[in-house]
Amino acid sequence: MKRFLGVSLAATMALSVVLPGGAAAEPQSKPNGPWIQPGQQVMLERFMEPDELHEKLEQIAERDRHDRLELEVVGHSAEYDYPIYVAKFGDADTDNPKVFLQTQIHGDEQGGTEAALSLIHNLTMSNNKDVRKILDNVTVYILPMLNPDGSETFEVEQGQSKQRRNLQEWTPEEWGLDADTPAPWYHGEDAVSGELGYDVNRDFHPDLSFELSPEDADLLPGLGTEPGFYVTPEARASRDVFEELQPDLFIDHHHRYSNTVSEDDDRLNTLQILGQVVDEDNVVSYDGVDYQLSEESLELSKQVNSHVYQVLQKGNSPFGAISLFPEVDLPGTALGSYSLNDAAIMLYETRGQQHPGGHTGQKGSGMLIQQSYIGLYETLLGLATGEIYDIDPEFYDTEIPRNSPRIGPPNL
Ligand SMILES: [Zn+2]
Repeated sequence: MKRFLGVSLAATMALSVVLPGGAAAEPQSKPNGPWIQPGQQVMLERFMEPDELHEKLEQIAERDRHDRLELEVVGHSAEYDYPIYVAKFGDADTDNPKVFLQTQIHGDEQGGTEAALSLIHNLTMSNNKDVRKILDNVTVYILPMLNPDGSETFEVEQGQSKQRRNLQEWTPEEWGLDADTPAPWYHGEDAVSGELGYDVNRDFHPDLSFELSPEDADLLPGLGTEPGFYVTPEARASRDVFEELQPDLFIDHHHRYSNTVSEDDDRLNTLQILGQVVDEDNVVSYDGVDYQLSEESLELSKQVNSHVYQVLQKGNSPFGAISLFPEVDLPGTALGSYSLNDAAIMLYETRGQQHPGGHTGQKGSGMLIQQSYIGLYETLLGLATGEIYDIDPEFYDTEIPRNSPRIGPPNL
């Protein structure tokens, strides 16, 4: 069996997806590991349903003897009225750096939620000195599974799947619009389930108080290089968290299909990252305000992305095959709208739809979730120590491979 970091691949499969009552992973501060704790035998044997996530979150909150975690419901999903939780560590009113992490805006992209749950568990429970350093020096809000409706399991021909969209119809009358007003362009049938819904990750607007009204009728249906309309309760829940926290850094976790690293490096990507999703020239004007990327936040975005890239390259890391996600110009994504509100951003696009029977299989899923966990954890630690602010942002432009040949379509 291939070995790395002195830990067998079998152990790697048993990553720190923490179940209450199970063995808790102590996060490791050293990027060159070992990251794996022997005996953590928890694998993705099936999809995590929304109720299961909520139960785990409530159980972690109950066991919070240090009084670190504040668990809050910030909204409810469109169709099934599932609660949408945010786990808060630290105060929004602080001079410390503030981070907002969000996962599973696309229902079928579960790996980030597993990594986030692990992070919530360890930030709540661990007495590791680096965890305490994070808690003392960084405020962190974590919103796992923004799109619980989409994460419901559907029976499809080849078995079970989740869908990418939420489950919601276009209801123009709700906004005072004529019944024949066209739906936002990102509303339609889900490719997997055939159900109607929105791509929630196009429903954001840099004007955080935007509310669709008859005055905006001529903006519909809109298009990708323009903002969305906050017609989904999921996007509004995320927006409310953003407004409350006003984070310095927003991280959004997704999955994509496989790529090779670059023209010269044909290893399969384990991860694609990105620190900019709106063109510097794209000025979104609405209600007398111009929204544009700020140099300062773009610089921090490049530092954070570079930090994660560097951390995951260290030692004999199995996670070294990383490149930049293709350039995009998408102000209607969460990342896009938030970056137009002066937040630095980081996009995670890990390989494959990480579920049983998906592109990566269980073994790959475990490794890739662990990769996300390490990247997220080390980002918090790098902000806590200040190390991230010492990184030359040019590293992002000059050292991280880009323009990797596509094997499948991008999936932001
Ligand atoms: Zn996605």
